[in-house]
Amino acid sequence: MQHCDTLIAPRWCVPVEPANVVLTEHAVIVNDGRITDVLPLADAHEKYQPSVTIEKPHHVLIPGFVNTHTHSAMTLMRGLADDMPLEVWLEKGIWPVEKRWVSAEMVRDGTELAIAEMITGGTTCFSDQYFFPEIVAATAVDLQIRAMVGTPIIEFPTAWANDASEYMSKATDLVHDPYIDHPLISTCFAPHSSFALSDKSFIDLRVMADQLDVRIQIHLHETQSEIDTAIKRTGKRPFDRLHELGIVNASLLAVHCVHMSDNEIEVFAKSGVNVAHCPRSNLKLASGIAPVTKYRKQGINVSIGTDGAASSNTLDMLSEMRKTALLAKASASDATAISAAQALRMATLDGAAALGLAAETGSIEPGKWADLSCVDLNRLHSQPVYDPVSQLVYTARADQITDVWIAGRHQLDNGRLMHIDTDNLLERSNEWRDRFAASIG
Ligand SMILES: [Zn+2]
Repeated sequence: MQHCDTLIAPRWCVPVEPANVVLTEHAVIVNDGRITDVLPLADAHEKYQPSVTIEKPHHVLIPGFVNTHTHSAMTLMRGLADDMPLEVWLEKGIWPVEKRWVSAEMVRDGTELAIAEMITGGTTCFSDQYFFPEIVAATAVDLQIRAMVGTPIIEFPTAWANDASEYMSKATDLVHDPYIDHPLISTCFAPHSSFALSDKSFIDLRVMADQLDVRIQIHLHETQSEIDTAIKRTGKRPFDRLHELGIVNASLLAVHCVHMSDNEIEVFAKSGVNVAHCPRSNLKLASGIAPVTKYRKQGINVSIGTDGAASSNTLDMLSEMRKTALLAKASASDATAISAAQALRMATLDGAAALGLAAETGSIEPGKWADLSCVDLNRLHSQPVYDPVSQLVYTARADQITDVWIAGRHQLDNGRLMHIDTDNLLERSNEWRDRFAASIG
């Protein structure tokens, strides 16, 4: 008998890789934070002596979700400004509050609120983009969640930095040093959008990203007005400008990509660009519906992000995954456009690939980190279960996620957050609400 830390025995296990497999009567073995074996339950009982055995007789075990685009700290602005187009939402709602209140303390509390919500929703890895990224990274380490922390780069002064060179130097410090080879944290450059940086800054950024071998994530072609304004200012579509500046390549994570021409999609495919699709945010801000089916037909890797809760109101990846499948079907007039299994893959392994983490997380395979979510399907609205993946994608709600492990650490145990003081977090969230509400009058 071999010792192992944990033996998990779910009713169903959907490893995502290999694709289209649903295992029953199987166990997942976790040791030192990693998945070390996936094998028939009877063999597992003969082979392993676990410290902890967890039986989940009505549950489906899946890889944890990978949320490839959010602004965690903005969770404190959830519901602050709704029902406005993007530009008005920024100018009337978000920017005045950010100008007054963004600080290390605000980012810590907002990020903690976001992480608590993400873990209860089955997310085990997220890609972030916000000011004070060093606080985002430290909070993720404190709470032990996997994250790709994007360092914001713009050219106007904020509480974090004053000008392009200060953003760049602070960003480079974070990317360069403390998190190289960290088990949970990776970093990337996160220029906000094409309109936020000069050509010179993009060229400097590209040189730095190449030297340090890190990814770049950027909001791109989110709205038609972003494109129209860029054409007026520069004579070029944002995509064309970034392409000329050498930013469009396999280390780019392009967020939104709602309005893309067929020609641009072809260049994306040839360049190996990864897309972060954020359907709820695009719907709520009336930005449009991204042509995800076209991307996938061209072989482009499309992952799923929730965007920040200030625009999309929730960090619920189950619901984002469902929207991805439904919108793709309706917009392509094709009920087969994205299947339930494909949607689950986009929300897990394809997300990990978009962040360069496919060897580490995103599927239930021996050798990967034990980043796992367990979903209770024994609810009336998820019965009967012919296919657990169908129930997961088309019926499950976030409160059916009962257990979450990140690098083998049991973070959510029967619906209870194990390492976060939720009462204290609720208090701090309410304090921020009072401050923000006062500043928008
Ligand atoms: Zn965003």
